[in-house]
Amino acid sequence: MIEIAEVQPPGVDRFPVRTPTPPAQPDALSREILALKKELNAVILAHNYQVPEIQDLADYVGDSLGLSQQAAKTNAEVIVFCGVHFMAETAKILNPNKIVVLPDKDAGCSLEESCPAPKLEAFQATNPHFYTITYINCSAEVKALSDVICTSGNAVKIVQAAPQDRDLLFVPDENLGAWVMEQTGRPMTLWRGNCYEKMVHFCKRSPARAIIIATEAGMLHRLKKECPDKTFIPAPTENCRCNECRFMKMNTLEKLYDCMASLEPRIELSTQVMRRARLPIERMLEISAR
Ligand code: SF4
Repeated sequence: MIEIAEVQPPGVDRFPVRTPTPPAQPDALSREILALKKELNAVILAHNYQVPEIQDLADYVGDSLGLSQQAAKTNAEVIVFCGVHFMAETAKILNPNKIVVLPDKDAGCSLEESCPAPKLEAFQATNPHFYTITYINCSAEVKALSDVICTSGNAVKIVQAAPQDRDLLFVPDENLGAWVMEQTGRPMTLWRGNCYEKMVHFCKRSPARAIIIATEAGMLHRLKKECPDKTFIPAPTENCRCNECRFMKMNTLEKLYDCMASLEPRIELSTQVMRRARLPIERMLEISAR
């Protein structure tokens, strides 16, 4: 089995995370959460799109894969993943022996929902030459059916590295797949899935220097903290029809406290799914490190 440390040399941060600055005067609930964290020997990982008060209490803030890698390195016994369900699952796949909890078990993802594993399996059966490239926003069961995982940041590289003699199937994000096809010139069959708020991806990717920031509000909080001398003005664009991910915002400080106090809801996956789902993640890490 490939260890993440082997494919990501020290000092090379391919999926950046940041350590937030805790608030100078945390409120009572925040103080209780921090005390509980110490008592449990827990690490709190918060996705970029979490509400500001959760980001402020986290040990690390970043994207789903960066956070999972952070989780794989930690000595903490409990991983509290403040994000959506598939992200907490990815942390569990990479840390099968640790307890992984998330504040709200219903914090799902419309993109994940657009690709149920049984439907994907049935579609794969129609072509034995399919090589399935799967965007990380999917369930553990879908990861287990995949040949390789990708993120928006490495999708082009992953597709370029795909075997030439196979028929590429890209799931579940149709828009990302179409963009990658354009960049690589590799024809792919695209799964007809999409996100209800296709926004952050396009705003971050834009090379324009003079752009009014049209992104998810949690990202604005991060940008303001990292660039305190700048002004960020939230505004919707053609590609960013929604300014909020309602699933991400289901996590609250109260739910964060409750999940740590009860160690529920907990991510449970079968050993078989975890073992199978880890392989395409490791393949992605290998390709990314080349
Ligand atoms: S923004 Fe869209 S793709 Fe991302 S977690 Fe929310 S629903 Fe899923």
